[in-house]
Order: sequence, then structure tokens, then C-alpha cells
Amino acid sequence: MNRLIYEECGVFGIWSHGQNAVETTVIGLIALQHRGQESAGICWCHEGEMMHKRGMGLVEDVFHGFDYSAIDACAAIGHVRYSTTGKSTLVNAQPLAFSGRLGPMALAHNGNLVNAPEIRTQLEQQGSIFQTSTDSEVVAHLLARSTTTDLDGALLSALGQVRGAYAMLILTPDRLLAMRDPHGIRPLVLGKLNGGWVAASETCALDTVGAEFIREVEPGEMVSLSSAGIESIPLLPPRKQAFCIFEYIYFARPDSVFAGRNVHMVRREMGRALAKEAPADADIVTGIPDSSLSAAAGYAEAAGLPYETGLIRNRYLGRTFIKPGQQQRARGVALKLNPIRGVVAGKKVVLVDDSLIRGTTSLRIVQMLRQAGAKEVHLRIASPPITHGCGLGIDTKDELIAARMSPREIAEYVGADSLEYLSCQSMVAATGFQACELCLGCFQGTHPVRRED
Ligand code: SF4
Repeated sequence: MNRLIYEECGVFGIWSHGQNAVETTVIGLIALQHRGQESAGICWCHEGEMMHKRGMGLVEDVFHGFDYSAIDACAAIGHVRYSTTGKSTLVNAQPLAFSGRLGPMALAHNGNLVNAPEIRTQLEQQGSIFQTSTDSEVVAHLLARSTTTDLDGALLSALGQVRGAYAMLILTPDRLLAMRDPHGIRPLVLGKLNGGWVAASETCALDTVGAEFIREVEPGEMVSLSSAGIESIPLLPPRKQAFCIFEYIYFARPDSVFAGRNVHMVRREMGRALAKEAPADADIVTGIPDSSLSAAAGYAEAAGLPYETGLIRNRYLGRTFIKPGQQQRARGVALKLNPIRGVVAGKKVVLVDDSLIRGTTSLRIVQMLRQAGAKEVHLRIASPPITHGCGLGIDTKDELIAARMSPREIAEYVGADSLEYLSCQSMVAATGFQACELCLGCFQGTHPVRRED
């Protein structure tokens, strides 16, 4: 829910799709809008040149009035952004388009390259001039400086030098390349659409454009889509898998599927487990829209309590809180949610949230429920305490309340009658993964990639 932990970007690409690749990419990006709302952009190739349209704000706003009929492109890549590195400015909007010895290309990246600052410093000392403050541009420079003559070799060399999380798309006049870091931290899926290919951060984007899910890009794999068909190229040796569990907890849309497991069903199972581990003497269960609703439904089901809509979200604000800046976030929360007095007044309420970051949002929501007449508020968190930051694409720069307060102290701070978390074991079990296949860094401090703090 409202938090200081954010989606960090969404990517969408399409290859060999008649002439309306750009319009389809806009639709795909709208389906991925929850992953980033600061900027949106699309690159496509026209007569050997990389064209682009990028802008600040939501996809719909950036492409409002855009004349698709003037574009004849059968391939495109797109990006929605939340800035985890670099400022939220137009110059940092992706995809990045650049041209060099290897020809024109465009790049869209979801993730975070933890050693990008040091590589950038070295490159600048050697004369490179950066156009943006994003970590993704480091890859463009490494590609441009590679001494190999083909793009595959240059990518091997460039990605061999970076450490971190990436689900990345690269568009050239001849190919669309889709690649994932060796740990598979960020998601990337492949689909088929009318004989063409689609790559996207989540399956919900495949569904929205009418593509059929084929498979996920494997950790360390690069998939090449071209007129020659699909080719899997082992880019880097896969390392211990470390899929980000926060994709299941919060980032992804409930209708998306990772590793064959639907996100809504995983969240519901987390809620069910939470009800068993942390029961409450209550009259109703309610969740915080939208990301906590699946877990709240699961909690109510397992607890045998009525599931009620206790909070209403103003749908016309978008996910305002996702924007950087504390003041903007605070205003976003206040405008965003309102309790239904008739539902909560006089009731003992279980309030389910998917995770707890700083506690200030929970404090405001508990206050709202009490002002609406709730007799008791029992806060239940469908994930364990977050005690560590994430240097892998998620912004947790701000204070983590669970790192310095016990659940009892947090309950007191937010004004709840009780507060309990889901255990790490039950959270992992709900995903169907083994703990060793997931990144649990923000809960356990064991990150798959060494971070530069
Ligand atoms: S530390 Fe790991 S689990 Fe937590 S948000 Fe970052 S990548 Fe995801």
C-alpha cells in the first residue's frame, strides 16, 4: 500500500507486428502503469533511424493526441518509470536512444545496477559524456566502447561488467533483444501476438494486448527476436535464483502470473496464513485498496469473518503516492482513501496491509477508521517486518520502522489495538518457491548482489 517502497519501472516490447507496433506498445504500457508513473516513452525504428516519444506523467497523458497513423513501425519498445536512480526529469525518461559503431539502438531497463556509479566515474575520467543521470546509460556507454564487432559480443562484455538487477529490452533495426540478470531478480515474460513477439515485465500486459503467454526469459538469458525467429542466447551463467518476493507482495498487478503462480492467489494465501498465525477477536476484516485486498480476502476466509469494503480509494488520483517527495506522498494518501462509516462504526476491525515500511500511512488510516467510529483496529501485515533497504531497484532510503521498533511499539505509534506480521516461512510457502530461490533481502538483509551503500 502507500509506502516508501516503490515499483521501479515497467518495460514492454513488440517485434514483427504489422504496422501498429507503437499503438500496441502504448496499450502494453498502460497495463504496466502501476510499475511507474513519473514518465513514459516509446522508441521505434523508422528507415534505419531510432525515433522516440517520451514525456513526464502517465502513459495516457504522454500519448494523448498522438497520431499513430503517421507511424509505420512493426517493432517498438516502451518504458514506464519510477526513478530509483537519477532525478525525475524528462532527460532521464526511457527508452534511451543512441547510435554508435554498432548502429542505432534503444534501451529500456527495469532494475538497478549497483556498481553503475563507479563505472560511470571511470568512464567520465576516460572522456565519456553522459546525457542522463540514470544507471541504465552506463550500459549504453559500455556497449559503445566495446571493441567487439557484433552486438551480442558487446552485450556480453557490457553486462559482464555490471552488477545488479535488470530486465532489459534493446531494439535495433534488425532485432528485439530481451534479457534478464543472472539472478532473475526482476521479471520478464514473452508472448506471441499474431505471428509476432511481445516481451513485457508482467503477463497482465500480454493479456491486455491479446498476446499468448509463451514463457519467462530465464535468469542470465538473452532472447533474440528477429526475422529469423526466436533464439535463446546464454548471456551470462545463471547464478543462484533470487526472484524479488516483493513482486508477489506488492509490485505486480494481481492478475499477473510469475512462475505459474497468480499474484492474487499468492496474496490470498498470504492472508490465509496470516489469519492462522495472527488471529484477532474482531467483527470484520477490511483491506487497504488495492494491493492489500487479496490478502484481506484470504484473512477473512480463513478467520471465518465477514470481508467488508471499509475503505474507498479515489480512483481518479492515480497512484499519486508513487511520486517522489514526502510532501507529495502525504497529500496523495490524504486524498486517496476514505473510510465507509456505515461499515466500520461500532465494529472491531481487522485492517490488513500487504507490508509496513515507515508506519506514517498506517497511522493516518488507523486514525481515519477511528474517526469513522471503529471500536477497535487490529493491524495485520501480510509480510514480515522490513528491516533492511534494497539497492536493487526499490527505493527504501527512508526510515524503516521495523528496524527500530517492536510490533508492540509500532502498534502504539500507529494507534492500533494490536499489530502482527506474517512469518517469513509462511510468506515464502505462499509463493510456491523455495526460500533459496527468492530474494528476501529487505526482510533478512541477505541480498543476492553486493550493494554499494
Ligand atoms: S531486497 Fe530483494 S526482495 Fe526486497 S525489494 Fe529488493 S529485490 Fe525485492
